Amino acid sequence: MQVPLLDLKDQYRSLKAEIMQEISAICDSQHFILGDKVEKLEEEIARYCGTEFACGVTSGSDALIISLMVENIGPGDEVITTPFTFFATVGAISRVGATPVFADIDPDTFNINPGEIEAKITPKTKAIIPVHLFGQCCAMDAINALAARHRLVVIEDACQAIGAEFDGRRAGSMGNYGCFSFFPSKNLGCFGDGGMVTTNDKKRIELLRMFRNHGQGSTYIHHHIGGNFRLDALQAAVLSIKLRELDKWSNAREANAAEYRALFAESKAAGQIQLPAVAKYPVRHIYNQFCILVKNGRRDELCSQLRQAGVGCTVYYPLPLHLQECFRSLGYKAGDMPVSEQVSGEILALPIFPESTFEQRQYVVKTIEKILGG
Ligand SMILES: *Cc1c(COP(=O)(O)O)cnc(C)c1O
Repeated sequence: MQVPLLDLKDQYRSLKAEIMQEISAICDSQHFILGDKVEKLEEEIARYCGTEFACGVTSGSDALIISLMVENIGPGDEVITTPFTFFATVGAISRVGATPVFADIDPDTFNINPGEIEAKITPKTKAIIPVHLFGQCCAMDAINALAARHRLVVIEDACQAIGAEFDGRRAGSMGNYGCFSFFPSKNLGCFGDGGMVTTNDKKRIELLRMFRNHGQGSTYIHHHIGGNFRLDALQAAVLSIKLRELDKWSNAREANAAEYRALFAESKAAGQIQLPAVAKYPVRHIYNQFCILVKNGRRDELCSQLRQAGVGCTVYYPLPLHLQECFRSLGYKAGDMPVSEQVSGEILALPIFPESTFEQRQYVVKTIEKILGG
């Protein structure tokens, strides 16, 4: 049996006719940049996330960069975040010239540990970027309380977490900014690159819209040095159609996770792996990834044998960012972020995409049992 880590073709087939019609209409209009398709999507995403406003941008990476730019965060400023995330979170901080400062993660949720943040705050700290990793929200009440006490901006990296909830509030609605990615492998993916910034602040949305278009106020009158961070009409149209299916897909991911839990509970390999923990605080986990920890130093062996058996799996992320060569000048060394380092050596993502079947999950769990033994 073949079980890909992700297969988007079924999803596409079910919406192909409608999407092609939209794409064709946009090509007929020859209006490709921003415009009414983007504005419509912005309204839909804001409503979906429970925010006042949303601003379509070129990617999740640019959503982070533009938020930092609007806050005028740059050289001499520090931004606290997790070392256990996709590169772009930390890349964005460096790209605006600010200094990333790492706080280690919680061993159960893999999200930044609020208890580790306060000791990292200095007079130079300007912002915190909590990352809702794999589709589960950070402990946002604790993070927001810290930010309020120290007057810090909160930029949620919600790139993996559209529709995830913390205590009834949606990812991207709890900080000053919510950053989303529509990279194809995210829960809501477009046909290329795309992103969105959400906010409840009228001043900030005006600045976001200006900054994404070279800081332009009226035509060719520039108030700030922004950039080209504009979302395409084609991507927006595809996303508007797919957004209507998002809750169905996220619910399917949740149901798939529950099936995995039931199957692993009866597996002889149960003692050798740790299933993804659902946080103690009230959350809706949308399972962009279903990541297990593999004990006894057997992660790489399990990964390669699973692949040989036709099961797609991969490691998010094998080297925490404080140990990456490109961040050597930050001065971190092995041992500085012990939880992130341990988790990156044990973690393995299994197929969880909405259209995957019970038989496929049965095969994944059986194959893991065969490889790891009792
Ligand atoms: C995907 C992702 C990004 C970057 O999004 P792109 O659209 O690929 O630029 C940033 N942060 C996290 C946590 C992500 O998963």
